[in-house]
Amino acid sequence: MAKIGFIGLGNMGLPMAGNLRKAGHEVTGFDVVPAARAAAEAAGIAMAASAGAAAAAADVVLTMLPNGKLVLDVYQEVLAAAPAGALLIDSSTIDVASARAAHERAGEKKFLSVDAPVSGGIGGAAAGTLTFMAGGTAEAFAAAEPVLSAMGKKIVHCGPAGAGQAAKICNNMILGISMIGVCEAFVLAEKIGLSAQALFDVASTSSGQCWSLTTYCPVPGPVPGSPANNAYKPGFAAALMLKDLQLSQDAARASGAKTALGEHAAEIYRRFVEEGGGGVDFSGIIEAIK
Ligand code: NAD
Repeated sequence: MAKIGFIGLGNMGLPMAGNLRKAGHEVTGFDVVPAARAAAEAAGIAMAASAGAAAAAADVVLTMLPNGKLVLDVYQEVLAAAPAGALLIDSSTIDVASARAAHERAGEKKFLSVDAPVSGGIGGAAAGTLTFMAGGTAEAFAAAEPVLSAMGKKIVHCGPAGAGQAAKICNNMILGISMIGVCEAFVLAEKIGLSAQALFDVASTSSGQCWSLTTYCPVPGPVPGSPANNAYKPGFAAALMLKDLQLSQDAARASGAKTALGEHAAEIYRRFVEEGGGGVDFSGIIEAIK
């Protein structure tokens, strides 16, 4: 079992650290927010006084932070403190350029590193059923896999440094676009006198079928477990969808890819968040489309 330093014990990090502990790893955590530290201590996680201190005796350092700038800031401390041979895993969702910079800095100090963002949300983090999309060398991935498997049930090696983040933002660009498409179809159906259930029955077994429709249906009724049946309580908040769409558009601009629908989806979610929808589930965008 490994000694793991876990930095960033928020909505996702805390349950993930808890699953590592349950799997028998020795976890030492750190978060800048006192309430997050207190919650982690209450969950039985030992607390360090800084990110560097959490990394100091670790075989593996995991980060679960809000953005790329914070990851690079924390890596400065971690790279100075972690013992030789430590493996660094960043599971935050961040921009591809920062992810590659983190790998580069880790490589300069001879640390193995993996970018391993997740899908599955706080439910998947608590249940230990996350999907991890990993980027890094074959050697780093092989070292990370047993650690990640304590927190997730599907772990995919997507390619070299940054490939995990690339997979995450491409997947979530599909998700944002497809959710808006499904919402528009339900809004149109209502206007032209077709019931939501009839549209669902046809489209869910026809060429309109997709995850946004069949698993996460944005109208109440057809899929009883979807957030639409629970007043659009997240789930996956619109603010996080906007973050991921904006990351996809940053990457599109930087690489010269043309993603007109991704750009439009980002704009639609930006307006929704600015008008107060940030904390609403991302399928709640149907109310704004109406
Ligand atoms: P969160 O805001 O709840 O947690 C982030 C934590 O990092 C906070 O507790 C914060 O205090 C801490 N932090 C910030 N700066 C720090 C620093 N310098 N040192 C130590 N700790 C620091 O966010 P979250 O929902 O847990 O998300 C974490 C990451 O996972 C994000 O990148 C997010 O995009 C991604 N993600 C979230 C979800 C979700 O459903 N919440 C799903 C998939 C991916």
